[in-house]
This record gives sequence, structure tokens and C-alpha cells, in this order.
Amino acid sequence: MSTPLPPQTPPPAEYLTTRKDEFIGWARKFSLFPYPFVTACCAMEFMSVSSTPYDTDRFGAALPRFSPRQADLLMVVGTVTHKQAPILRKVYEQMCEPKWVMAFGVCASSGGFYRNYAAVQGIDTIIPVDIYVPGCPPRPETVIDAIMKLQDKIANQRHPIVNEDY
Ligand code: SF4
Repeated sequence: MSTPLPPQTPPPAEYLTTRKDEFIGWARKFSLFPYPFVTACCAMEFMSVSSTPYDTDRFGAALPRFSPRQADLLMVVGTVTHKQAPILRKVYEQMCEPKWVMAFGVCASSGGFYRNYAAVQGIDTIIPVDIYVPGCPPRPETVIDAIMKLQDKIANQRHPIVNEDY
């Protein structure tokens, strides 16, 4: 006589939630749509990163969107002045959730060597920043490293389907 099988128990809710977060995180980390907010000389390096030898398409981040409503990665490339700060804030607010921000180069990260009344001393005084890219200008390899670190961050985040803040 065969022994009866143990009763099937449904997987706990946390298991399902974790698997859902893993799956959505995986999909989101490979479908980044950058919005380049480009203000200064780091632009040359941004163009270099976007060129064929570096191939950001490998990371699913090759297609820049020039409408904040269609983008989820705000790349702030270059020096931001206090006059531009409200514009940057508005662009950030127009992006839908979930969204991430990259400070590209030392000027965006900390004001760089523009230690004066006109330059914002780091964009994190205006908007939240997820990843900082060092260098003046940063090398393309540094930017690619930052994209990969951001991907890790996205993969390990919670991804609620419904915004729990509401
Ligand atoms: S970090 Fe250097 S290259 Fe980039 S915007 Fe500032 S001064 Fe220009």
C-alpha cells in the first residue's frame, strides 16, 4: 500500500512577492530609457558612451528619449546652474515612477571645481540621485560601470505594481 502524499500547501505570500519583484526588476533593469539633461562639456563623453564601441544597447539603455514622460533614467550631464535648477526639477517631476537619476561627472555630482554662487553644488540638493559617476569628464568605462551598478540596484529593489504611497 502506497503512503499518501502530504497535503499540498500553497506557497507563502512572501515567496510570490519576492519572485514578482525579481521578475519585474530583471525586466526593468534591461529596459532603461535615458533622458539626457545635457548642459556642458561632459556631453562629449555622453556622445562617446552612446557610440558603437561602447554599445550601451548591451544593457538595454541605448535609446535616449527626449520627453521626460517616456524616460525612466534621468542622466544629468554637466554643470547645473541655479538658473537651470527649476527646469531640472520640473523635468524630474514630469517623469513617471519608477525613475532613477544618474549624476554624470563631478560637476553634476558636487559642483566640481565651479565653487561659486552660480553653480549648484551637487544635483542631490534639488532631486534624489541614485548613482554618481566620478571624473571630469568620466571615462565611458566609468559610465558603463555606473549603469551596471544601477542595474544591480534596480534588480534588488522592491517593485510594487500599485504605488503603495497612495
Ligand atoms: S565634470 Fe568636467 S567635463 Fe564634465 S561638465 Fe564638469 S568640467 Fe565639464
